[in-house]
Amino acid sequence: MNVKGPTDEEIRNVITPLMLSGAKMLDRHCPVCGSPLFEKDGKVFCPVCEYRAKNKRDSIADRNVDVEAALWAKLAELASALPSDVNALEKHLSAMEKIIELILKYRALEGGE
Ligand SMILES: [Zn+2]
Repeated sequence: MNVKGPTDEEIRNVITPLMLSGAKMLDRHCPVCGSPLFEKDGKVFCPVCEYRAKNKRDSIADRNVDVEAALWAKLAELASALPSDVNALEKHLSAMEKIIELILKYRALEGGE
């Protein structure tokens, strides 16, 4: 069994629609995943590797959202429990400031794609 080859799901979602769209299936195979290579608009490509790369990018983006949600939750927690002691308050606020900086950094990463 070739575990690297396209799965049934990939054949259904990637290869079949591509064939229907008029892309030409070549008699060469992708050295990475074993899928047939396709040619469209003069370009040879592996649709399965492109699909997998895209899924990977999407799951990384999902993780960023989770991290951002966790940061927001922590920020809300800190904001709802501000200490009355001035020194403690200062530490508290600088922690909140760092969280806000992190959130902004994550947003910049997401927007930079
Ligand atoms: Zn491939």
